[in-house]
Amino acid sequence: MKEKTFCLIKPDAFERKLVGKILNIVEAHGFEFVAMRFLHLSEKEAEQFYIVHKDKDFYHPLCKYMSSGPVLCLVLEKENAIHDLRELMGSTDPNKANEGTIRNMFGMDIRHNSIHGADSPESAKREIIFFFKGIL
Ligand code: UDP
Ligand code: MG
Repeated sequence: MKEKTFCLIKPDAFERKLVGKILNIVEAHGFEFVAMRFLHLSEKEAEQFYIVHKDKDFYHPLCKYMSSGPVLCLVLEKENAIHDLRELMGSTDPNKANEGTIRNMFGMDIRHNSIHGADSPESAKREIIFFFKGIL
């Protein structure tokens, strides 16, 4: 059965003009684009999006970075979309991400890793609502 997931292209990808390349790869792996939204988040909005990480030491630098430039929010659809997008993204740290993954190819470091993908059905639902039905 087809499933929806939430994906976000991060500011470091915009800065290095990698957005088109990343979209190409996502599309070539069978994901359909169901919705897209281009935004520049405020730090407060980034803090809300990443609220699960509020107690981590990287929370504030992460939210500063996520509001430092544009982002592209996407709803993607395919069979096993949530799992398959996480696989295609690779590990959080690009140095540990498998070859051929987006973070391995384009990520700079554990923070500036080019792409976000929802990690569970609950996160996908929350994140889709946050960006496409919420207050932003
Ligand atoms: N992050 C960071 N420092 C860390 C770990 C994570 O700045 O030590 C950032 C990174 O951009 C990551 C995001 O916080 O993508 C969310 O972290 P998470 O552990 O949820 O990784 P993800 O699910 O994105 O792989
Ligand atoms: Mg995560």
